[in-house]
Amino acid sequence: MNIVLMGLPGAGKGTQADKIVEKYAIPHISTGDMFRAAIKDGTELGLKAKSFMDQGALVPDEVTIGIVRDRLSKPDCEKGFLLDGFPRTVPQAEALDALLTDLGKSIEHVLNIQVEQDELIKRLTGRRICKVCGTAYHLVFNPPAKDGLCDKDGGELYQRADDNPETVTNRLEVNMKQTQPLLDFYDNKGVLTNIDGQQDITKVFADLDALLQGNRI
Ligand SMILES: [Zn+2]
Repeated sequence: MNIVLMGLPGAGKGTQADKIVEKYAIPHISTGDMFRAAIKDGTELGLKAKSFMDQGALVPDEVTIGIVRDRLSKPDCEKGFLLDGFPRTVPQAEALDALLTDLGKSIEHVLNIQVEQDELIKRLTGRRICKVCGTAYHLVFNPPAKDGLCDKDGGELYQRADDNPETVTNRLEVNMKQTQPLLDFYDNKGVLTNIDGQQDITKVFADLDALLQGNRI
């Protein structure tokens, strides 16, 4: 079961990723984890990646793809894997296809969790943090017992600058623009499925699960 999971910030990708890897016993491979592991293991590519990151520069595709290749060659990927955060661009997706062909594998499912922009904005702007202890709340999904105050210590709750509507909208728009060519690429290959991410979490997973078991949703 070789899967690429996609979805905009706030779509619930992390939650669904956890459920998929638990049920199907495949590794959850995120770009960040992959880089951290390669750096920790001191692989040649890991050290190369680190030298770019230390300069605050983007890691070139050639290095990233080498790290992905090393990761997907490991024995725990034999039964499958869930890629999260990679590929980000069409050239990366093409390179991924080429390296998977070399390894005798291919991507079977690209799952895109879809949520309307208004709903994403609601989800992403509702977060409030306690000034005292840092506990995170959500006005809609996890509200504090008393408006604006932390349940644990009565501390004042604030909204991070990153979570204000303007910043969130901007971030989403940049993200959508970057993602669309990639969705088109996988759609043309016939492996893309859009999943309705506005349902409750259990129903979203039920849809994903049915699809992975070869059923139509
Ligand atoms: Zn607190």
